Amino acid sequence: NVSLPSYDVQKYQTPTGQQLTCKGWIQEAAMRMLLNNLNPQVAEKPEELIVYGGRGKAARNFKALDDILAALKILENDESLLIQSGKPVGIMKTHKDAPRVLISNSQLVPKWADWQHFDELEKKGLMMYGQMTAGSWIYIGSQGIVQGTYETFAALANQHFGGTLKGKLCVTAGLGGMGGAQPLSITMNEGVCLAAEVERWRIEKRLETAYCDVMIEDIDEAIDRALQAKQKGEALSIGVVCNAVHLLERLVQRSVVPDVLTDQTSAHDPLVGYWPHEISHVLAKTLREENPDQYLEYAYHSMYRHVELMLQLQKMGAITFDYGNNIRARAKEMGLEHAFDFPGFVPAYIRPLFCEGKGPFRWVALSGDPQDIAVTDEVISSLFPENQSLQRWLHLAKEKISFQGLPARICWLGQGEREKAGLAFNELVKTGKVKAPIVIGRDHLDTGSVASPNRETEAMLDGSDAVADWPILNALVNTAGGASWVSLHHGGGVGMGYSIHAGMVIVADGTDDAAERLRRVLRNDPGMGVIRHADAGYEEAKETAKMFGLDVEERIH
Ligand code: NAD
Repeated sequence: NVSLPSYDVQKYQTPTGQQLTCKGWIQEAAMRMLLNNLNPQVAEKPEELIVYGGRGKAARNFKALDDILAALKILENDESLLIQSGKPVGIMKTHKDAPRVLISNSQLVPKWADWQHFDELEKKGLMMYGQMTAGSWIYIGSQGIVQGTYETFAALANQHFGGTLKGKLCVTAGLGGMGGAQPLSITMNEGVCLAAEVERWRIEKRLETAYCDVMIEDIDEAIDRALQAKQKGEALSIGVVCNAVHLLERLVQRSVVPDVLTDQTSAHDPLVGYWPHEISHVLAKTLREENPDQYLEYAYHSMYRHVELMLQLQKMGAITFDYGNNIRARAKEMGLEHAFDFPGFVPAYIRPLFCEGKGPFRWVALSGDPQDIAVTDEVISSLFPENQSLQRWLHLAKEKISFQGLPARICWLGQGEREKAGLAFNELVKTGKVKAPIVIGRDHLDTGSVASPNRETEAMLDGSDAVADWPILNALVNTAGGASWVSLHHGGGVGMGYSIHAGMVIVADGTDDAAERLRRVLRNDPGMGVIRHADAGYEEAKETAKMFGLDVEERIH
């Protein structure tokens, strides 16, 4: 691959404004969103095409990226481009309401579905890891996760501390693409965040975007500063340059018990995501390339110790939860019997929202003009005046969130609400109140499009955690409904063999056709979450299904 081009900031700059460079706004949106995923302000390592989440990529290699961009340019309005693990493999005849792009990432036949097989195929250039929104071209930087993280800590504060984290010490690790949202989410809830991060440049990136307040090199100094802030009730976030295991060991030695304890290192990917604590960063980097088996031994040993320390601090009184990186399973694989003694964040804090079809809904202004997002903020605020937490979120987001790449916004909206918002945005485009079309999408960390037994579907009421028919149905119904691009992934969030999930994006271009598509897709997509949870026996979901005509029994009888 030596002769292939590398990341060229000029060449891969995201076009903005009203000028079309493709044959329709949907192709144009796909092209802009793919480039936006890779924008250096947005992606963690654009030079390797890595967007976030360990090695979550947007295209398989630079040749594939160039070919996708070229294909999107010539794609007609009755054709669909097929992407197989980050590479364009076909242009098929479809129709105007069909998705313009259909994507499948990292799929392996179940018996083969582990990192070992994946690594072999990736080395041969046959596959790419799409994570969740990286390979489905709807990543919007740390903002994409910040409301979810904020809501999770808010739910925790409500359950345990009377609604605020003021005067509480929250300890975590991993300040990457998603984990980088933790410090800001904790200070937004008025708490103190102490986060271990091995790579200094990651903390610097969070300081630049104001997601983190200070960086400290020395572990004891960082602990002291955090305790001071806790005592004063000051909202403060500290990134400490160290391994998570070293921070937790020091806390135990000093008998400092965090009020809240979690982790967002990329433990889902033991080889490319997690740094072991017993060897230097430099040696680890070399081993990764030259002796992956030995690297894995070190990494697994560290993850065992990491979870062991979390369990120890939990016993000492820390409210401890797994934050969706599968670290408990890694420790369990190594024989740590009680690894699952602390819960995952979905059953602990998020499931009631999933039962109402709620999840991380997001939108992006293709014009590139932040004023367009300000207009959409006002519309959302006026559409849902009774939703207090949404109003509070919009207020905080405007004040605290700096845009990365194309201006974007995220809001947790549920059944009925997404449809309303999408149609209102289409109207804004039609009437020229915003300058260019709006792209609407969501995370795969979502109500009805994921099967992930250690995360989104952990501890389902009826034991259906590993049933993966739901994400497949989600992708099928969004294709049938006319989403603009639809993707089906394997291994996102928690790693190979542990999840199947689907993504969808739809463009509001101001046309009547778009309005029809938005009406269908933004009803059906959260609807999948409502019926999935109703089927599993959740009362809130059954009520939501009845309220929105999604109850199949009622329709039949
Ligand atoms: P990332 O790969 O961009 O960042 C991971 C960070 O962890 C890196 O900065 C790395 O240097 C650091 N790290 C690794 N090992 C460490 C250690 N032992 N000690 C300290 N720091 C260490 O990944 P990301 O996008 O931030 O995602 C992090 C994890 O969270 C992934 O496993 C991802 O799948 C999961 N995730 C969770 C959610 C959620 O909502 N809970 C959402 C998305 C992703």
